[in-house]
Amino acid sequence: MLGKNLRKLPKIELHLHLDCCLSFDVVKKINPKIDIEAYNKKFKAPSTCSSVKEYIKCAEYAVDLMQDEKSISLVVEDLFEQLKAENIIYVEIRFAPLLHCKGELSSKEVVQIVDDICKNCSKKYCIHYALILCTLRHFSKNQSMETVQLVEEFKNSGVFALDIAADEAGFSLDNHFGAFDFAFENNISCTAHAGEAKGPESIKETLKKLKVKRIGHGVRCVEDKKLMNYLKNNNIHLEICLTSNIKTLTYESIDAHPIDKIFKSNISLSMSTDGRTISNIDLTSEYELVVNKLGWDLSDLKKVNIDAINHSFTTSEIKKELLKKINISY
Ligand SMILES: [Zn+2]
Repeated sequence: MLGKNLRKLPKIELHLHLDCCLSFDVVKKINPKIDIEAYNKKFKAPSTCSSVKEYIKCAEYAVDLMQDEKSISLVVEDLFEQLKAENIIYVEIRFAPLLHCKGELSSKEVVQIVDDICKNCSKKYCIHYALILCTLRHFSKNQSMETVQLVEEFKNSGVFALDIAADEAGFSLDNHFGAFDFAFENNISCTAHAGEAKGPESIKETLKKLKVKRIGHGVRCVEDKKLMNYLKNNNIHLEICLTSNIKTLTYESIDAHPIDKIFKSNISLSMSTDGRTISNIDLTSEYELVVNKLGWDLSDLKKVNIDAINHSFTTSEIKKELLKKINISY
């Protein structure tokens, strides 16, 4: 009974990469030479990757297609259509503007384009949104500073936060302290990918040095009981992406995934896809997993949506509106 209605339920999604969500339709519009076989092979991660690094590589093909205003606009609109189809009512979309400057666009123009088209789509599809700009682990100090300065410049528009993504195991945080210090001094909200390719030490380092209140993934906190207590007592929120963690071989299967343990430890968490195309899923199919495999019920799903709203980067006015919708529907 619950399973049938999951698609219609309003949902909040906080962890979603713009370049990991291109449908075949939009890829074909941008480059008609790419056929379905090439799309399935290049844009979707294999059933299990050897690592997070291999998983991320799939986004490179999408990034290459998103180097001009028209293509970027098509990709954003394509994403909003996908979100509407499963009743996402609030989304935080993240991307690294500096990756889209291989053609004529400047990083500032990239952010302006994404924000403009998101504004239009937000009205058209009745979905609230916030943008998160990503610096990447392998970026230089200057690239990281440029990214946070874009957040500052656009923070009265649709941009609300800074994130650090990419290869956690391959690159240290050293180049990024300046950007996150700048964010802290300028009241810019932050999240950071950690505790996926590396364990609890990486989460502790990220919390201490980047001063974030949210962690992307963070699932390997379960290897350290003290850290779990810290997360709970300090209201640190984990953005959990189940299938993504299985595709990257962080866990072998849903049965081995610690989401249920984290949830029952009263650590604040939300559920997201990470990327619909790259993981070959949507948020409804992720809800189906926790309902069918872990026995979660409607009240559990309601809690993760309320946790998501409370830790979202949007305005208190929008939070109130979202809470109302979730409380009525669940
Ligand atoms: Zn991610």
